[in-house]
Amino acid sequence: PIDLNALAGEYLRLAYHGLRAKDKSFNAKLVTQFDELLAPVEVVPQEIGRVLLNLYNNAFYATQQKLKQEGQGYQPEVCVSTRQRGGKTEIKIRDNGAGIPKAVRGKIFQPFFTTKPSGQGTGLGLSLSYDIITKGHGGTLSVDSVEGEFTEFTLQLP
Ligand code: ADP
Ligand code: MG
Repeated sequence: PIDLNALAGEYLRLAYHGLRAKDKSFNAKLVTQFDELLAPVEVVPQEIGRVLLNLYNNAFYATQQKLKQEGQGYQPEVCVSTRQRGGKTEIKIRDNGAGIPKAVRGKIFQPFFTTKPSGQGTGLGLSLSYDIITKGHGGTLSVDSVEGEFTEFTLQLP
């Protein structure tokens, strides 16, 4: 059984510091809202870690996109929260970045779908994450987004 608060927090720092190693000028506010009573969950930590890393990297990338559009005055923010919900464990990852246009929302979980310039994205992160969560762990992965405002991925594990 794995402490998902610890896992989610560790990978958030890992993703952020990885990015900052490449771009020292990038600053984001990291927000964690952990349910301290979260029950440990039977998961493969390396696999869930990989999913979290994908989701965090996408989130930071989306804030960098928005930063390019808006310039200073915009504060990139990535928030991770956990809670117990009807016998399931829920993790939400939210960013205040560029958002996902309605027209592409139905495609983002497809393998090789990417809106990133060639060399910057494989389009495999979300399809792999989807398989790890659904087929591998019997959970669900869904998304909510408003273009230009925010994107929020919700991961539920039994
Ligand atoms: P990649 O990151 O290589 O493009 P992914 O499978 O991780 O592949 O994501 C697919 C696409 O989904 C991205 O190219 C982007 O268009 C969209 N996307 C994913 N996460 C976000 C996010 N947090 N904000 C905005 N768009 C996102
Ligand atoms: Mg990705």
